[in-house]
This record gives sequence, structure tokens and C-alpha cells, in this order.
Amino acid sequence: MKWTWNVGRIAGIDLKIHLTFFFLLIWVGLPTLISGGSISTMLLDLLLILLLFVFVVLHELGHALTAKLFGIQTKDITLLPIGGVARLEEMPEDPKEEFLVAAAGPAVNLVIGAAILISLLLGGFFTLPLDIPTLMDNFWVQLMTTNFTLVAFNLIPAFPMDGGRVLRAILGTQMDRVKATRIAAIIGRVIAVMMGIAGFFVNYWLILTAIFVWSGAGAEARSVEIKAGLVGLVVRDALVSQFYKVEANLPLGSVYQVSMHTGQRDLPVLSNGHFLGIIRRQDLLRAMERLGNRAPAYAAIGVEPEGLSPEMPLKEALQRFSASRVLPVIEDGALIGLLTTESIKQRMWLNQRGKPVDSGSSEETIHTV
Ligand code: ZN
Repeated sequence: MKWTWNVGRIAGIDLKIHLTFFFLLIWVGLPTLISGGSISTMLLDLLLILLLFVFVVLHELGHALTAKLFGIQTKDITLLPIGGVARLEEMPEDPKEEFLVAAAGPAVNLVIGAAILISLLLGGFFTLPLDIPTLMDNFWVQLMTTNFTLVAFNLIPAFPMDGGRVLRAILGTQMDRVKATRIAAIIGRVIAVMMGIAGFFVNYWLILTAIFVWSGAGAEARSVEIKAGLVGLVVRDALVSQFYKVEANLPLGSVYQVSMHTGQRDLPVLSNGHFLGIIRRQDLLRAMERLGNRAPAYAAIGVEPEGLSPEMPLKEALQRFSASRVLPVIEDGALIGLLTTESIKQRMWLNQRGKPVDSGSSEETIHTV
């Protein structure tokens, strides 16, 4: 089932709406109808929600277009009931650039809110003494406060909010990125705890937000540390050069035996020394069920991800792991090793302890079964 719908393109970026977004519209509109409210009140409520999302889209465009100035593309912008998400290809690592990209979103809402405020002031809308309840009911005042709320919420200095990135960027001008992220993550977690406690007294939604912020802080710190641990390393440094492989016409039953006896879940398949693909354990089991034990090994090869070059930076290779935990490393058309998430982790662990590691070129033995 498709969960997101493409609804258009703005400035070359796909705009998508998540299905759950429509539940929000029903959730807002239905109570008014049930409680006997007029259709016009309900439509006004819905219009307010739709405008809120227009502001969110403009906010995300603020991030996306600023990133574009620094040569970073945006894959798409998706609207969710909790707000919008702009998927940038990456976040700029230069503190000044990151600051501008992160601050651009809230800046858009600040400008819209300020523009409404100024036009209300110029139009003589506010008369003293202020009648707060009537003011809060006014459509334009609601639009203005919506924008100012978006600014305040997004500038909470905690990942994954924009404020967390702004904070990291400011710290980043004084120290390296890993340290800046670590400190920003600690500050984010302190804020999450305070939010969580406040949530019990004020509003339970705050507790949910606190959980969201707590995990966001940890995830950001981890991803930055992983990337830092991989700097300067290439695929050749982390590949597994000793592994079992099978011939293309070996029966699936025997392939299964090899996998069980060696403990190697993913087996490369070769035909006359030519690499054809990798059989993953789940594909093997499925193929045995479908084709029987005597079918040849090559029938169980799944969709093969592109092979990696041994000189590719590990940081880049890490992004290739999606459905698959193991990727083939190809040099001059031949399979020379396997890169796994586990082998990367081990290499990083050694790297962080400053231990130079022999890349294994001295004893490259490949077992053939
Ligand atoms: Zn933002």
C-alpha cells in the first residue's frame, strides 16, 4: 500500500502528503459537525489547518532552497500530521552553512508572523484595552500565533529540531563537529527530561515530544560519531577477504549445507570464476521451497546490489546498505571481498583505538566449496 501521495512539485522538489495527514483533517472537522457546529465554523477550522500546512511547506522550502545555495539537493518534502519533513541529501558540515540552512526554516515563519502583525497594527486592529478572548478568536490573529508557535517550537535547542542544529553549528565554530554534537545532544536530553516532567503537569503531548527529542539526540550523536570514525578509510580497509563461495550449478540443498556448516549466511555465487551474485539466507530458503533442493544455486540469487570499488570511501559505502547487510567488492571485474555492516563496525572499533590494521592483503585466501 502506498502511504504517500505526490501532490505536486515546487522549485524542482516533489511535494508529498502522507496518508495520515487526512486523518488529521477528519479529526479536526468531525467534532465540530458532531457537536452541532455550523458547516462554516468547520470549514474555517479546516482552512486554518490547511494554511498551517502551507506555512509548514514554506518553512521546509526555506531549508531546501538555502541548502541548494550550498549545492545540496532536496529529495522531497513530505507533509505529516506532526509537520513537514524536507529530506536533504545531507546536512552541510561547515558550521556557518549548517547554521544558515537550519535557521532558514524558522526565519520564514518569523517573517510571515511579523508581516501579519505589522498589517494588523497598521490597520488599527488592536485597540486598548486589549480584549484577549475576542482577539484569540480572530482568524488573522490565529494565523499569526500559528507562525510564531512554529518558530518557538522549532527553535527548541534539541535534535531533531532545527534549534538543535543551530546550537551545534554555533558550538561548531569553537570545536570539532563530534564534540559539538555530543554537547548539543546532552543539552537536548536535559531539555527532553524537563519537557517530560513538565508534561505531567501541563499537557501529555509534551511527554510524547520529550521521548521524540530524547531519541533524536542519541541518534544524531551516534551518526556523527560513526561518520567521524570512518574518515580516511576506504572499502578495502574493512572488507572480509576470507569467505566461502559456491559454484553456480551447485544444488540448492548443498548450498544450504554449506551455509549451515560454515555459519556464513550470505554466499557469493561464481561461474567459472565469474561473480554472478550473492545468495542471502532468506532468498535461499524461499528458493528451496519454490524450486526444490536440486535447483541450481544461481536460481536463488536475489536482486543484486551494485558492487563496490575497493577504493570507495567507507562513509559513502555505508549509504549503500539498505535492504542488504552484505555487499560485494569488485576489482577488475573479479570478486575480491565482502563488505558487511559487522566488518565496518570492527574496523571502526580498531580505528578509534588508534591501532593500525593490516588490510589483509598478505593472506587473501578465498575458500571455494
Ligand atoms: Zn525546520
